[in-house]
Amino acid sequence: MVHEKEHKTKGLVAVFTGNGKGKTTASLGLAFRALGHGQRVCIIQFIKGSWEYGEIVAAKKFSPLLDFHVMGRGFTWKSDDLEKDKAAALEAWKFAKEVIEENRYALVILDELTYLPHYGMLAEEEILTALADKPKGLHVVITGRYATQKLIDAADLVTEMTEVKHPFKSGVKAQKGFEF
Ligand code: ATP
Ligand code: MG
Repeated sequence: MVHEKEHKTKGLVAVFTGNGKGKTTASLGLAFRALGHGQRVCIIQFIKGSWEYGEIVAAKKFSPLLDFHVMGRGFTWKSDDLEKDKAAALEAWKFAKEVIEENRYALVILDELTYLPHYGMLAEEEILTALADKPKGLHVVITGRYATQKLIDAADLVTEMTEVKHPFKSGVKAQKGFEF
């Protein structure tokens, strides 16, 4: 335990992982909170589905404090061309790395980043190095399933979303405003 007077501030690395719902939305909640304090936020989504996500539309209303980037060609595990996906993923990562290094934001969210190393599109060492070298005051949030032990070790905060119950299991389809 740290004694109260020893508590300090620092830019955190947070990871939201696990199979339960709430990883991306938890990070959006943090963005909302930071924006309320006039802090600049950058959200980079590494995997895009075919839905029209409410958060992308809402993000425009927070301009110019919030920048929202949906990267690549919407690569997924259902892809038809893995080489193109990999190139897009690397391009997206290069951009994210620059955003971290430039230090123009209070909070950078790398949504669904865990899938890149998981599917062999990016060496995990790249991510670990960028986190180790990040600007001291910057908060970085990474979301996605399959966070590795190395990523967990590198983080200050890790929350695993556990699925206890999900409406999908009882046949309720994804709903606008709740899932996307
Ligand atoms: P959200 O974006 O709602 O916070 P998430 O980021 O935790 O969810 P992802 O793994 O990124 O979840 O999955 C994206 C989509 O899959 C979302 O529409 C989400 O509601 C849905 N989903 C998440 N977890 C489950 C689950 N356990 N069963 C079925 N669908 C799920
Ligand atoms: Mg998500």
